[in-house]
Amino acid sequence: MSGSLPMEDPLVRMYRELKRALAKDQSQVKWAMVIDQAKCIGCHACAVACASENRLGPGVVYRPVMEEETGTYPNVGRRFLPRPCMQCENPPCVSVCPVTATWKNAQGVTVIDYTRCIGCRYCLAACPYGARCSDFGGFYTSRTPQEPGLIQGRYAARAYEQQNAPEYAKSWGQRGKGSPVGNARKCHFCLHRLEVEQLPSCVTSCVGRATYFGDRTDPGSLVSELMGSPRAYALKAELGTRPNVHYLA
Ligand code: SF4
Ligand code: SF4
Repeated sequence: MSGSLPMEDPLVRMYRELKRALAKDQSQVKWAMVIDQAKCIGCHACAVACASENRLGPGVVYRPVMEEETGTYPNVGRRFLPRPCMQCENPPCVSVCPVTATWKNAQGVTVIDYTRCIGCRYCLAACPYGARCSDFGGFYTSRTPQEPGLIQGRYAARAYEQQNAPEYAKSWGQRGKGSPVGNARKCHFCLHRLEVEQLPSCVTSCVGRATYFGDRTDPGSLVSELMGSPRAYALKAELGTRPNVHYLA
């Protein structure tokens, strides 16, 4: 310990790289994510942070953390797989949309225009990763007892749930009164945060420092480095979707 400096937190490096990417011509940037399964401890902090950031109601989950058992008894273990939208380079969800409400933006993120989306759910059926959800407009506090004083904070919690979703850098109005309720929804790499030089919420909240984000066209970025690792793989690569989310086995 004596005389040695602590290793740099990867978040510090990713913030530096984010600023570098935002200073570039944005048509030259390609956002990517890498998730290290050896570091993920399955705490679900990323899923909770995402739901809070994007005001996700019941049944709308952008980043579930899946679990699988490994090994054979008695030598068994558990492995976790956080599963955001893969931001596919060749996304089957886009071409099926009958009203062109979803497309790839210049930085490779698959986005949805809630004002165009008619909620037909064709895109939900087309996504091979199950990464899209329908928002039916529920509230987590709907079945919480309402007597004043019975549950401290119940009213504050409902008020919180009714706040505007900040997605796509737009104010969507009080939850329950129009979009995004009634629309398809999905992870968008927290585009509204990137615009103000903030990393996605799942990245900053990751307890295991298992989630990395950056510009894959920058050869000096952490994500470029990790995507070149022999441990790197993509989910369902055989489908030809060409995900921009990679995993380290
Ligand atoms: S993971 Fe699914 S929703 Fe995301 S871009 Fe690919 S096909 Fe579309
Ligand atoms: S916050 Fe990080 S460690 Fe926790 S479940 Fe999500 S990816 Fe895994």
